[in-house]
Amino acid sequence: RTGIVWFRRDLRVGDHPALSRALAECDRVRAVFVLDEPGLRPIGGASRWWLHGSLERLASDLADLGIPLEIRTGDSVAHLRDLARATGATRVYATARPGAAEREIDEAVREALAMVPGGISLRVSPPDLLVDPGLRTGEGRPYTVFTPFWRRAQDDLMRQPPRASLPVPAPARAPQTTNPDAFARALAALGLRPTAPDWAAGWEDLWNPGERCAHERLGDFLDEDLGDYPDLRDRPDRRVTSRLSPHLVFGEITVSHIWHAVDAHRRTHPGHGASFLSELGWREFAHYQLVHFPDLATLPWRPSFAGFPWPEPDPALIRAWQTGTTGIDLVDAGMNELWQTGTMHNRVRMVVASLLTKNLLQHWRVGEEWFWDTLVDADPAANPFNWQWVAGSGADAAPYFRIFNPELQRKKFDPNGEYVRRWVPQDELRPAPIVDLARSREAALAAYRAREETTPTTSGE
Ligand code: FAD
Repeated sequence: RTGIVWFRRDLRVGDHPALSRALAECDRVRAVFVLDEPGLRPIGGASRWWLHGSLERLASDLADLGIPLEIRTGDSVAHLRDLARATGATRVYATARPGAAEREIDEAVREALAMVPGGISLRVSPPDLLVDPGLRTGEGRPYTVFTPFWRRAQDDLMRQPPRASLPVPAPARAPQTTNPDAFARALAALGLRPTAPDWAAGWEDLWNPGERCAHERLGDFLDEDLGDYPDLRDRPDRRVTSRLSPHLVFGEITVSHIWHAVDAHRRTHPGHGASFLSELGWREFAHYQLVHFPDLATLPWRPSFAGFPWPEPDPALIRAWQTGTTGIDLVDAGMNELWQTGTMHNRVRMVVASLLTKNLLQHWRVGEEWFWDTLVDADPAANPFNWQWVAGSGADAAPYFRIFNPELQRKKFDPNGEYVRRWVPQDELRPAPIVDLARSREAALAAYRAREETTPTTSGE
C-alpha cells in the first residue's frame, strides 16, 4: 500500500502523528508540500525565507526515512488528486489546520479524493494545540477572556496531560529513492529566498530553521534562560525569551512536546516555567479565537469597532513607521530590528503597534500586514490576534485608554539604552518625532471614547 503525507505547518518528522500513522499503515510513503494554495493568504517574504530552510531540512530528514518530498504550487485539490493517481496511493495523511479556509480546502480535497475510482481516503490527525477548540464556559459559550480560559485549560491539562511525544518513526518498509539535487533545484526554482536585493543577507547566521535546531533551541532555553524568564522576559535588551516562535509557526516542534519538556524541567527546578507556559497559553488563546472567529485578520473581533472612524491612511506616517524613522527611539529600534532580523521583541511589538494604531491613528490592518510580510514568525492566528489586542478591538483586549508611552517604556525596559543603541544608528542625525506623544494621545482617547459612547456594547464583547 502507498500513502501520501501532505505536509503543511507541521514540517518535522518527530512527534508527527500523521507521518507515524502513514508509516505504520503503508509500505511506501511519499510526501508533498503545496505552496500558495488558492483561498489562503499567501505567506509573506520573511516567512518564505524561513520556509525555504525548513523544507530543505525536512526533505533531508524524510530522505533518511525513504520518503521523497515533492513541492507543488497552487491548487491542492488538483495536486493531491494527481499525485495520488500517479503513485497509486490509497490514503492521504495530514495534520489538521485550525483556520476555517484551511478546513474548507481539506473538505474539498476529501471529496475530490473520494471520487477517484477505488476511492482515496484523507486521514487528518488533530492539530498541534494544548486546548481543544471545543472548550466552552459553564454557560456553554466560547471563552472570550484569557484568564478563565487558561485557568480552565491548566486544570484540564493537569488531569489529562497532552499526548506523549512520538519518536522519529522507523523508515518505510519499502523505501523510495530520493534525488537531493533535483529537490534542491525544485526548491531554488520557487524563489523563496531573495536575491536582488538580498534583504535577508546574514540571516543564515541569525536563524536555523528546521526540527533539529528547534529542539536544540528548546534545550538551550530551558538550561540557560527559563529561570530568568519571569523577571527579564519584558526586557528587549536581554535575550532571555525562547525564540521558538518561528519553529512553532512552521510546526518544526510541537507545543505538546514543549509542554512535557517544561513539565519535566519543573520537577528538578520547582517554581520555574509557569510564566513561560502562560505565554504558550496566549498562543492557544489566539488559535482558539481564530477557530471561533475566522475573520480575525480582516474584521474587528468586537463588533462595536466596525464603525470606528479610522482616518484615511497617511502614507507618510506609515512609511516613517515602517522604515524606523519616526524619531521615537524605542519605536525606530523595534522597526529596524524587525527589518534587519525578521523578528522583534514582544514588548517592543506592543509599543510600535500602540504608536501606529493610537498615536498615529492608522488602521491596525496596516500594521498587521507589514508584520505579516516582515516577521519570520508571522502567524495566521497570533499576528491578527495581537494587533487587535493592542488596537482595542480584540478578544480580552487592552482597554482603549491603555496607550503605551514609548518614552516611559524605553526607560523601564531598556534602562541602559542598550537595545536602542543596538538598533538605531547613533552616528545618524535623528529626525524630530513625527508626532507629539501627549497631544496625539489625547486625540486618540477622544476618538476611542466617542466610539464607546456612540456604540452600544454587544453582549459577546
Ligand atoms: P517567548 O516569550 O519565549 O514565548 C514562547 C512562545 O509563546 C512564543 O514562541 C509564542 O509561540 C508564544 N507567545 C508568546 N507571546 C504570545 C502572544 N502574545 N500571542 C501569541 N503567542 C505568544 N507571535 C507569533 O508567534 N506570531 C506573530 O505573528 C505574532 N505577531 C505579534 C504581533 C504583535 C503586534 C504583538 C504585540 C505580538 C505578536 N506575537 C506574535 C506574539 C509575541 O510577540 C511573539 O510570540 C514572541 O515575541 C516570540 O518570541 P519568543 O518565541 O522568544 O517568545
